[in-house]
Amino acid sequence: MSKEAIVIGAGVAGLAASIRLALQGFSVRVFEKNSYPGGKLSDFHQDGYHFDAGPSLFTQPGNIEDLFELAGVKIEDYFHYEQVPIACHYFFANGKKVKAWADPNRFSEEMKQELGEDPQTIARYLKQSKRLYNAVGSLFLKHSLHRPTDFKLSEVVHALGTVRPAYLFQSLHRFNKQQFKTEEATQLFNRYATYNGSNPYKAPAMLSLIPHLEMNEGTFYPKGGMISITKALHQLAIDCGVTFHFNCPVVKILTEGRKTTGVQTAENTYTASLIVSNQDVYFTYKHLLQQEARAQKVLKQERSSSALIFYWGINHSFQELGLHNIFFSSDYQSEFRDIFQGGKLYKDPTVYINITSKMEPGLAPEGKENWFVMVNVPANKGQDWERLKLEAKKSVLKRISQALGTEIDPLIETEAILDPITIESKTMSYMGSLYGTSSNSKLAAFFRHPNFSKQYSNLYFVGGSVHPGGGIPLCLRSAAIMSDIVAKSA
Ligand code: FAD
Repeated sequence: MSKEAIVIGAGVAGLAASIRLALQGFSVRVFEKNSYPGGKLSDFHQDGYHFDAGPSLFTQPGNIEDLFELAGVKIEDYFHYEQVPIACHYFFANGKKVKAWADPNRFSEEMKQELGEDPQTIARYLKQSKRLYNAVGSLFLKHSLHRPTDFKLSEVVHALGTVRPAYLFQSLHRFNKQQFKTEEATQLFNRYATYNGSNPYKAPAMLSLIPHLEMNEGTFYPKGGMISITKALHQLAIDCGVTFHFNCPVVKILTEGRKTTGVQTAENTYTASLIVSNQDVYFTYKHLLQQEARAQKVLKQERSSSALIFYWGINHSFQELGLHNIFFSSDYQSEFRDIFQGGKLYKDPTVYINITSKMEPGLAPEGKENWFVMVNVPANKGQDWERLKLEAKKSVLKRISQALGTEIDPLIETEAILDPITIESKTMSYMGSLYGTSSNSKLAAFFRHPNFSKQYSNLYFVGGSVHPGGGIPLCLRSAAIMSDIVAKSA
């Protein structure tokens, strides 16, 4: 029987899916509506500055290493990365500052000196985070939650033994507040809910496993910027024999009974024995399968937050800033209430700045910096984004100028802006959500769409809108889980 697979979308999950299927012996075609691979993981140049357009934080490089190992090639021939000594530079609204050193002991010491937090509390928290990740997180990242037969009983028993009721029934914020004596430490550890676009005041304390990834395992920097991940995976896919069709949106998935038979693009029809959609699962149902009722069912789960991004070429170099920087708002709870309940932009939002020229000065003109400035905003529900962008820019400039003691506006040499509407139009992510659905409910993990279709036996799903969720590591895991299911059903 012919083994032909079609992957719809060349996002990071689509690229990984194409590599894994090619290595299983499928002849793979990838259809991508854009002229470039990577989806959100893309880049652009403007006036001598290089900007990564989307993701900036790189954790768990093992997910990428796995693909090269599986293909039997040396990763060094495609991709180079290094561990970053300081995960993040934190600036609190009250003027306090903390460097999150990659070395946990040094970080604990810094938290004691700068905030008065007990180093033993930090060490205990990070140990708990590791235990939780190893027992529950890794289980959830390895398997489809919708195929209980894939789980080993011993792993499940171990996971259940680790999950204390507090992890499910307390919010991350409440849990953190009980752990730390300072408000700053609570805010710092609350921030991890935003790693999958969730609200720390609603999301379960289970998300306290996320700091393990950054603080115990470390954060990394890919040489050449985040775009190097896309370039490496695209090249590996080509070397594995995958064929790419760019500027080629799929408009329909063709079906016959309980099977898919191929896809239709604007110009052609292509047949395949297996189809993987890397498109947001909502749009896959709505447009490609034309099943409005199923599309609406996906929407029962709350969408993750979105973002406003200002890409600024800055005619100055700031010694106090690093690769990742956070300027916290003074009232985090109100900020999240406005984003998730109010559907609006908070008046004085937390600001994240990523500066890759700190790692590679050549990514900006000499003596200057390429700032990726992001604030969390609600997913698009028809808000007036033109007005909100102006308001956000004003408050962002005020906050950073105050914290750095320098007027930033006159230093901006060049600017580009990304908003929820452009995030949706560039990558077909419904409402411009960064991470598909949020994890604000304790059962969110179980309600996320599976990596396979219950309706069509040869249709699969990968990417941020399906299990295990958004963010590069999880998207890469979605491709691995899909590939395992395909291999088992062969
Ligand atoms: P996408 O990247 O959305 O790719 C889907 C692809 O499918 C796109 O290329 C799209 O054009 C294509 N497509 C859609 N429909 C069709 C069709 N009908 N036919 C053909 N092609 C189609 N994650 C992190 O890990 N760290 C971060 O720091 C981080 N920061 C982020 C910041 C921003 C501003 C954004 C936007 C995201 C961020 N994320 C981060 C999230 C991360 O980028 C995503 O979770 C991940 O890249 C999603 O990958 P994906 O493969 O699911 O989908």
